[in-house]
Amino acid sequence: MAIKNAYLLDLLARTEKRNPGEPEFIQALTEVLSTLEPVIEKRQDLVDAGVLERIVEPERQIIFRVPWVDDNGKPHVNRGFRVQYNSAIGPYKGGIRLHPSVNIGIIKFLGFEQVFKNSLTTLPMGGGKGGSDFDPKGKSDNEIMNFCQSFMTELCRHIGADLDVPAGDIGTGAREIGYMFGQYKRIRNEWVGVLTGKGLNYGGSLARKEATGYGLCYFTHEMLQANGMSFEGKTVLVSGSGNVAIYACEKATEYGAKVVAMSDSNGYIYDKDGIDLALVKQIKEVERKRIKEYVERKPSAEYHEGCKGIWTIPCDIALPCATQNEIDGESARALAKNGCKVVSEGANMPSTPEAIEVYFESGMLYGPAKAANAGGVATSGLEMSQNSLRLSWSFEEVDEKLHGIMKSIFKACDTASKEYGMPGNYMAGANIAGFIKVAEAMKAQGNV
Ligand code: NDP
Repeated sequence: MAIKNAYLLDLLARTEKRNPGEPEFIQALTEVLSTLEPVIEKRQDLVDAGVLERIVEPERQIIFRVPWVDDNGKPHVNRGFRVQYNSAIGPYKGGIRLHPSVNIGIIKFLGFEQVFKNSLTTLPMGGGKGGSDFDPKGKSDNEIMNFCQSFMTELCRHIGADLDVPAGDIGTGAREIGYMFGQYKRIRNEWVGVLTGKGLNYGGSLARKEATGYGLCYFTHEMLQANGMSFEGKTVLVSGSGNVAIYACEKATEYGAKVVAMSDSNGYIYDKDGIDLALVKQIKEVERKRIKEYVERKPSAEYHEGCKGIWTIPCDIALPCATQNEIDGESARALAKNGCKVVSEGANMPSTPEAIEVYFESGMLYGPAKAANAGGVATSGLEMSQNSLRLSWSFEEVDEKLHGIMKSIFKACDTASKEYGMPGNYMAGANIAGFIKVAEAMKAQGNV
């Protein structure tokens, strides 16, 4: 959707000038602004309060050195980031990404998206994101611990249970959160819920591990039902084979779908009989090996090098769960041509703007990330509540709350899309519903 409004075009141009070399941030911003035109036409009060000028600028951006030593005694230096994007509706909240591609622009785009996503969850959480260009792949446990301790030695000055509560993301799972939590506790000498995604025997929440993937399927189920469809008997592609992908595959299968492909950054597997998820879990969660291993143990399946080819497999539903911009225009056209009717996003911003245009042009249902993958942060919010209450809820209790939240997120997107004259455009609905709550809170709190 192209931006036509002169005020929004000028705001975008000024923001682009102020943030050179940050294409992902500008991409995320352009998408949100392109759907806000009808809102600012109705709500001049928000424009007058300077909400948009402020919302494009993070409240705080922290960049720091992370020195660590490998198993051979060799020193290394990585760069650490924390972008505390917006605290209008609650403490900053958002994950930590450990991947060599991480830079300030990536963290800023993720932080920006997080603000609206957290708003949609109905829980009191502001938006933030952090990470490092450290590559956990091929590192020993000891090296991972050294890095995590060094990272937290600096980060602990900037976070707190009522200030900023990081969580996992690409490259940061329970192991990394454990090392970071241990170091925070050691330095600050306090046991508080300063991180989420913790282990179950020290303050973690049941169902947090499953939450993003399950939540994606709960949201997608609602979207399908609202449009007279269901998961039952459908062929599904899931990209990635990490935390989000594994539990998306699990829930989609429970709903009666057949997942036939998964991937990692080297290639993808195709199993026409349906993915054997127990085998994927063994390879990825237990052995931490490559997805290629799957065909060694299940020779009837196929392995193909390169991750883009996954989108050429005929399917009904595509669930991208790996990383940003993994579906470009060409892949989106391949999906449409092969009969795919639904794309619902587990990863953050996995579709390029051109891909999104293809979804709309070909009449596909499109579940945008900030709504569809909000189940992870929502359950992190539930982990914070349990830590504050000094209680633990059962798996069923947390899962039920998650399910309720995902239903209400779909309803909010659907309602906003209708109210602002774009029925069925859940991208616009998510942006508008997420934005209005934060914008009103910012206006109420004055020009800060
Ligand atoms: P993991 O690290 O557990 O898994 C990431 C998966 O994506 C791996 O299979 C990885 O392959 C693949 N991948 C990563 N980078 C690339 C790349 N550049 N090209 C192709 N494949 C890649 O991360 P998560 O599952 O936690 O996160 C996946 C996505 O979901 C991210 O976009 C994240 O921001 C988003 N998300 C995660 C949430 C959570 O709760 N964890 C919450 C909401 C969103 P390889 O092993 O080869 O790197």
